[in-house]
Amino acid sequence: MDKERKLIVAGNWKMNKTVAEALDLIRALKRELGSVKDIDIVVCPAFTALSDVSKETIDSNLRLGAQNMSEHNYGAFTGEIGAGMLREFSVKYVVLGHSERRQFQKESDALVAAKAKAAHAASLIPIVCVGETLAEREGGLTNKVVETQTRGSLAGLTREQVVETVLAYEPVWAIGTGKTATSAQAQEVHAFIRSLLVSMFDEPTARRVRIQYGGSVKPGNAREILSQPDVDGALVGGASLEERSFVEIIKNSL
Ligand code: PEP
Repeated sequence: MDKERKLIVAGNWKMNKTVAEALDLIRALKRELGSVKDIDIVVCPAFTALSDVSKETIDSNLRLGAQNMSEHNYGAFTGEIGAGMLREFSVKYVVLGHSERRQFQKESDALVAAKAKAAHAASLIPIVCVGETLAEREGGLTNKVVETQTRGSLAGLTREQVVETVLAYEPVWAIGTGKTATSAQAQEVHAFIRSLLVSMFDEPTARRVRIQYGGSVKPGNAREILSQPDVDGALVGGASLEERSFVEIIKNSL
């Protein structure tokens, strides 16, 4: 696929896979995808598998991501993990503000922005998620919600940092539901987000930011969605848990 920005496809394994299962999957992905150069490929295992998976990705074209991190670097924050700790395992990306964390852990835009700043300070690339619920879409609020989340979650980032940030538009109604936004719906919101980035930063900055789509991406729909001009990759949940489907998503997007 000939794109203005390099595609980035990330697999969010969520709270799945033992270390042994994670190793099976990463080894299979290395075998199948080891020669792919035109797409940045990221896997985001649970924290418990980061150390072992890292030993497999370190000399490969596959990059490691975490699913969350603390806004603090270290200290008395029981149960939290800081950016420096992720760096120990050669983690390069970190998913922030996923809708499941916004919903279940009540993460706010301000918290996501604090985490994004902490990620950049540690040279991690945040993948910042935004997206509306079904009720918000049906109420005609998609752009308003996406604007509030984007402005709030990127608050305080410099131009240089935002260029090194990946955004993920993930309509909540499409996550894990089998319902996918049409490619036209995805493109419309992605173009809106890019226009927002122009107003928040400037045109050259906005043109460099990669915006992934997420929400029931599968081998059968990846190519059409990713061929949209403002869609620069995918954040994949369910279909990233299985070698065949994740490999096909990448190969269908080349
Ligand atoms: C996600 O959790 O980010 C996601 C997009 O999940 P799924 O692909 O399963 O909809």
